[in-house]
Amino acid sequence: MHKKLFIPGPVEVSADVLAQMATPMIGHRSKNASELQHRISDKLRQVFYTQEEILLSTSSGSGLMEGAVRSCTLKKAVVFSVGAFGNRWHEMAVANNVAADLFEVEWGQATTAEMVDRALSTGEYDLLTVTHNETSTGLMNPVEEIAEVVKKYPEVVFCLDAVSSMGGTKIEVDKLGVDICITSTQKALGLPPGLSICSFSAKAVERAKQVPNRGYYLDLLSLYDYIKKKDYQYPSTPSLSHMFALDYQLDKMLEEGLDNRFRRHQEMAELVRSWGRKYFELFADERYLSNTLTNMKNTRAIDVADLNKKLGERGFQISNGYGKLKDKTFRIAHMAECTIGDLEELLENINDILKL
Ligand SMILES: *Cc1c(COP(=O)(O)O)cnc(C)c1O
Repeated sequence: MHKKLFIPGPVEVSADVLAQMATPMIGHRSKNASELQHRISDKLRQVFYTQEEILLSTSSGSGLMEGAVRSCTLKKAVVFSVGAFGNRWHEMAVANNVAADLFEVEWGQATTAEMVDRALSTGEYDLLTVTHNETSTGLMNPVEEIAEVVKKYPEVVFCLDAVSSMGGTKIEVDKLGVDICITSTQKALGLPPGLSICSFSAKAVERAKQVPNRGYYLDLLSLYDYIKKKDYQYPSTPSLSHMFALDYQLDKMLEEGLDNRFRRHQEMAELVRSWGRKYFELFADERYLSNTLTNMKNTRAIDVADLNKKLGERGFQISNGYGKLKDKTFRIAHMAECTIGDLEELLENINDILKL
């Protein structure tokens, strides 16, 4: 039996979107391939609220995160972490010989504008990474406030990990001054895993030109240059199947209306939060709760693996805690094409299994 996924990626993919993955191949050097990429970029610019260039990478989101920190750090990167994915960005910098400092807060807490201001004011850094939505803790950082202080430091390239939030909540990339905003297909965009997407600003382009060793496959400047020179094609063969599905799914998203889509996510989040507060406790700071997933403290000491096994028999799957939170929390994702009705059905089944 198929288990309906309520995990923070991969998410449930609609049957019609999945079917697009079976579209017959076209040559990746054809005019049709260029047109496909043009359509995708134009629609993604609407979702990202940007006029800047859009790059696709046939890798998961981690690929573009690694590419960003390596391609655009000249002096030193400052990595703000609020959980597992923030820490990963620092590990990537270190693994690529990119000088980087890590500022980590206690899990469940947010990165604040003051912290960012204090670090950037040292003048040591020329690239900043922030996690928009931390999937390990269920926290959404106050990115508007952070963006305000980053504007005081025009030499800093601002990278934002929006892997688990883009498409589920409004992120106005240009207004925020984000230079590289990264997401991947298997989360709030509602597609299968395997493709990642970023915006790439003119400032990021200029910076990358100064960086000598940007790697090869994940060199964002080479992707950018190729797109510009070869009419929106890629240096290596992209996942055309994902591109067919993305082109189609973006039409569906724009048809739903972005504001409607964001409102639906907000309502789903509120439903799961109120259930979580009633029967458990929420893990993250109440002021910064995520709109795309909710992380519950396991205050009833339930056996999460056993709950998931029983849910599985009924055709549902949720997620345990991430890493060190494995048995301490459990997570319910509410993103992409998920509906209030889906969540009500899930929560009724959890209540029934746990006799709540
Ligand atoms: C899933 C996730 C990633 C990693 O993305 P992949 O596509 O799995 O490589 C990075 N950051 C956050 C916040 C995520 O949720």
